[in-house]
Amino acid sequence: MRGCIFCKIVAGELPSYKVYEDERTLAFLDINPINPGHTLVIPKNPDVRNIFDIPKRDWVAMMEVVHELAAAVEKALDADGVNIMMNNREHAGQVVDHPHIHIIPRFKGDGLQLWPHKKYKPGEEGIMQKRIQQALAT
Ligand code: AMP
Repeated sequence: MRGCIFCKIVAGELPSYKVYEDERTLAFLDINPINPGHTLVIPKNPDVRNIFDIPKRDWVAMMEVVHELAAAVEKALDADGVNIMMNNREHAGQVVDHPHIHIIPRFKGDGLQLWPHKKYKPGEEGIMQKRIQQALAT
């Protein structure tokens, strides 16, 4: 038990606007939404921090909830789409050290520009492909 902010929300020690709860997961509104209705889905497991240490059963439970909630959030907000995002570790933008998936409702013309893309240097795609395949194999 680490007592992070989200563990305190699970334990009822901090308030939140819960939208869904089951044995393994909790979903609640993000306190500083990118758009209203921005929802976070977390595992209740207090001993995990990110995608790298989450047990598969908690991950699968989160994915099932994200699948249901993405549709519910879009419908409830009459949105034009949703972004599903997860930041893992500090340099990927993770601020709260407890796994969480962002469901962000999006609206035509909302002006949010996510993820500027880069171009590969010549030959770089093949190098990346091999490195990732090798990492998978070990
Ligand atoms: P991340 O940058 O992926 O770690 O996102 C953490 C998110 O948690 C941010 O979008 C915050 O606005 C949100 N957040 C932080 N504290 C709370 C809280 N007490 N209740 C709801 N959302 C929170």
